[in-house]
Formats: sequence, structure tokens, C-alpha cells
Amino acid sequence: MLRVLILGGTGVAAELTARLNNITGIEAIASLAGRTREPVAPVGNVRIGGFGGVTGLAEYLQHQKIDVLIDATHPFANHISWNATAAATQAGIPRLLVNRPPWEKQPGDIWIEVENNTEAAKLLANQALENQALENQLFKHQTKRVFLTIGRQEISAFSHLQEMWFLMRMIDPPNADVVIPPGLMLFDRGPFTFDDEREILTKYNIDTIVSKNSGGNATYPKIIAAREMGIKVVMVKRPPVPPGELVADVESAVKWLLEKVGS
Ligand code: NAP
Repeated sequence: MLRVLILGGTGVAAELTARLNNITGIEAIASLAGRTREPVAPVGNVRIGGFGGVTGLAEYLQHQKIDVLIDATHPFANHISWNATAAATQAGIPRLLVNRPPWEKQPGDIWIEVENNTEAAKLLANQALENQALENQLFKHQTKRVFLTIGRQEISAFSHLQEMWFLMRMIDPPNADVVIPPGLMLFDRGPFTFDDEREILTKYNIDTIVSKNSGGNATYPKIIAAREMGIKVVMVKRPPVPPGELVADVESAVKWLLEKVGS
């Protein structure tokens, strides 16, 4: 029996776990961080909670006799991905990263790409960013009502922007110590449809969206709606991925694993 640990918290991981558990000779164990109160847990063997850094994960891999580690976490869950790479090396097992491609800017999109949420907040505040003087011109007018779709963990980065109004979408409420920007919190979980997103943008009179470049289809409709409605998007770029083997989707991950088993 080939024991595969899948680091998850994403639809991709849930799908991959289900696929692998249907293949004779493979046992897939899904791992969730435990952040979401009611996670959409993959069917089958699931463990929940952090491992305790690289050392903790390497020990888990060894004690649980894991043969292969598949990192199917969200593209912005960066710590766990670097930890996974180091821990797999320590444990001496192969590691695959499943990382879907980022969205590409399309004709009609009004995007300004930034490195992180702090830069996004600076841009909204109309502060000059290095190398982006021209783009900043776009923000000189009418950035007042912002759809903040970055989850709940980093909304404090925008809390000093008291002259703006934020519609903040997230799955669960933020922790008690988080300083919340002015506006309204909307608790919801994707996937979202184009019609839903257009309705939200219209109803709340949104002029700017802040989004992570998550890639995939589940949260892309807001980007299409923004394009069609001429709404600006501050797009937070992907963090760098750790070195090592990488595929873009579930299908390729299954193929990679079956080739490994065969070899
Ligand atoms: P992160 O910053 O990369 O990870 C922080 C810590 O959480 C890790 O060091 C690890 O703790 C633990 N952890 C993360 N993913 C884990 C997993 N699948 N199983 C066990 N422990 C895990 O991650 P994050 O950005 O907080 O995201 C947490 C989870 O939410 C991830 O699993 C991710 O797939 C999911 N998610 C994240 C986003 C996002 O935008 N960041 C969006 C959708 C879903 P230890 O060091 O103690 O092992």
C-alpha cells in the first residue's frame, strides 16, 4: 500500500484525495490546517491541525510511514509549502506541488499588480509605489468603495484607511484581535457565479476590488464582472513557490503519482 499525505484546505486537495482513494494500492490521507470552522473536508482519512514546523512535519512523515507528500494547499499558503519541501527532503520522500496557474490579465481588465496586501493598501491610499507612478494615476479618482476579497487573516492591513468603505468577504469571522477596516463583513464561501458577483458589485456600488491572484474558476467570476463593469482590480501577485516538482491540476498529479508507483 502506497501511503500519500495530501496537504489540503482547497477544492483541488479534496478532489485529489477522492481520486487517489479510488485507486487500488493507494491510501490517501488529507491534512487540513483547521482554520475554517466547518471545512469542506475530503472524504476518507483526514487529520486536522498544524504539524509544528518543518521538524514536526518530517517526524509525522516518518512515524506515519508516508511514502509520498503532495502539497495541494492554496497558492497563497506559502509557509506550509516551504515547510513541506524541507520536511520531505528531511524524511527522504518525494514531494509534488500542485499549483494551478495564476489568472492572466485579459483585454478590458483594469489591473494593478502589487506584491502583497500592504502594497495594496498603500495603493488605495494613493501613496506612491516604486515603479508604479503611472498606474497610481488610475487611483487618483474614485477609490472609495472597495470589495476586499483577501480572506480574513490580513484585513488589518487596510484598517487605517478610515475614509474608505470596505465590503469584506470571508468564510468565517476574523479573530477577536483583528482590527477591522470600516465597512461590512460578508460571510460566504465560493464558488461564486458571475450573476452573484455582478449583483454584489452593483448593490454596494463598488469601484475597486482587491484580490489575490488565486487562479482557478471558483473565484474568477468577480474578475470577469469587474472587466465587464470597468471596475479596477488591485491584484496581489503570487508568492514564490519552493523548488521541486510541480503540476497544475488534479489530473496531472494523478498521472505523476501513477508514474512514480510504476517506476
Ligand atoms: P500558511 O501560512 O502557509 O501556514 C501556516 C501554518 O498553518 C503552517 O506552518 C502549518 O502549521 C499550518 N498549515 C497550513 N496548511 C496546513 C495543512 N494543509 N495541514 C496542516 N497544517 C497546515 O497557510 P495559511 O495561508 O494560513 O492557510 C491555511 C490553510 O488554508 C492552508 O491549508 C490553505 O490550503 C488553506 N487556504 C488558504 C488560503 C490563503 O489565501 N492563504 C485560501 C484558501 C485556503 P505548522 O507549521 O504548525 O505545521
